[in-house]
Amino acid sequence: MKNPQISIVAPLYNEAETFPHLVARLNRLMESSPLSIEVVLIDDGSRDATPDMIRQIALTDERYHGVFLSRNHGHQLALSAGISAALGSEGLFIIDGDLQDPPELLPEFYKLMKEGNDVVYAVRKKRKEGLVKRTGYFLFYRFLKSISYIDIPLDSGDFALVSRRVADVMKKMPEESRYLRGMRSWIGFKQVGYAYERDERAAGESKYSFKQLFRLAYNGIFNFSEFPIKFMTNMGGLSILIALLYFITVLVKKFFFTQIIEGFTALLFVIILFSGVQLFALGIIGEYVLRIFFQSKQRPLFIIKEEIVNCDYQKPDAV
Ligand code: UDP
Ligand code: MG
Repeated sequence: MKNPQISIVAPLYNEAETFPHLVARLNRLMESSPLSIEVVLIDDGSRDATPDMIRQIALTDERYHGVFLSRNHGHQLALSAGISAALGSEGLFIIDGDLQDPPELLPEFYKLMKEGNDVVYAVRKKRKEGLVKRTGYFLFYRFLKSISYIDIPLDSGDFALVSRRVADVMKKMPEESRYLRGMRSWIGFKQVGYAYERDERAAGESKYSFKQLFRLAYNGIFNFSEFPIKFMTNMGGLSILIALLYFITVLVKKFFFTQIIEGFTALLFVIILFSGVQLFALGIIGEYVLRIFFQSKQRPLFIIKEEIVNCDYQKPDAV
């Protein structure tokens, strides 16, 4: 097998339950497609049978390419590892390993790519997750769009077909706190959305912990927006203005109306309010400083402990 045209990239974390479904659907897709396809499965430090399953299929079926990380690095980094290992010469089809993103859409995405788009990203028309999660996603994407300095399309996740040159740019982006869907928009070229209905996961539970979900959201906000800092500066300016106005009224009252200056309830209120504002502001600065801190270490983004690949194609350099 030489140089596949397309790499399907799917990160897996404890997905032993969904694995057989995934492989069955991918095999069906590859058998019906005229494209030459490899499947890059990334084991993100799973604790169940997932790595064994990946190893087995990568050793016996040359279309499968196994990448094993040294520990759980999280979805975004696992995906980044997959992108750096993928050999597809025309494009990388990025999907979740739980079949929430139907792989069968590849031919349609590919057609759109052939029409001159470098990125075909999926837009979720409808979700089948719980109400709380759905509302959270809905609000988050709208908030992010309104504050971001680049145009990140609404309701689109990492599910996309990206061209080889876009993948190469992604590999060159050294940012440690990764928000791939934002990076993808930032890269530019011609991008087009494709509306689809997001399925439920094939089996098992979501592998994203609440903490990870929040981290992802924070990465979206702090990596693609200067709004928090600007907001803070404006808040600071506004409070100075209010304080000044208040001071002037007090002076006017005292000297022109010889009134006694009233009460410390107001004082207490202002102190509490502005200590809160200050802590909030410090937290915002902290978020940026934290990102500088992590980035300044210049650690590798992920550690691949093993790779099983059957292609004779020269592996592009890892990030
Ligand atoms: N995933 C991963 N590492 C993690 C968490 C998740 O590689 O630390 C994978 C997971 O196996 C799945 C994909 O990322 O293939 C999306 O995760 P999940 O379905 O749990 O997220 P959700 O769809 O609930 O947002
Ligand atoms: Mg999922």
